[in-house]
Amino acid sequence: MQRTLSILKPDVTRRNLTGAVNERIERGGLRIIAQKRLHLTLTQAQKFYAVHQERAFFNDLCQSMISGPVVAQVLEGENAILHYRNVMGATNPANADEGTIRKDFAESIEANSVHGSDSVENAAKEISFFFSEMEIVG
Ligand code: ADP
Ligand code: MG
Repeated sequence: MQRTLSILKPDVTRRNLTGAVNERIERGGLRIIAQKRLHLTLTQAQKFYAVHQERAFFNDLCQSMISGPVVAQVLEGENAILHYRNVMGATNPANADEGTIRKDFAESIEANSVHGSDSVENAAKEISFFFSEMEIVG
């Protein structure tokens, strides 16, 4: 069993698609074992995406992440990190496979509906960024 950090981005909450995306997550065999809705501050978004701070899209990405509420989640399942990335689809929805969340819901490469951790190390960091142990109920 493995855990990964998921974020439903503001384009999802704005269009009232939280349940529709959660249905894809659960249908994909992942369990939502922690979940909270919050509105990130700019400082929090910049800290969360610090690995991208040198990228040209960093400011736009942070602004997009604070443009509305997000839903942060811990997902659990076998090989959850890689498995969720497959359920999400490619970063650019134009390249995402049929049936993936990004193919079906993303508006653009920035407003691409979901975040998922990319490694065991980052999953642990990102989960503890949002959740305490008490809030994670496996
Ligand atoms: P992923 O979310 O698939 O792990 P990255 O970690 O590379 O992708 O990038 C983080 C987020 O930054 C992406 O989900 C996307 O919203 C945004 N992003 C990535 N590349 C670009 C780009 N070339 N232009 C604009 N936004 C981008
Ligand atoms: Mg990433």
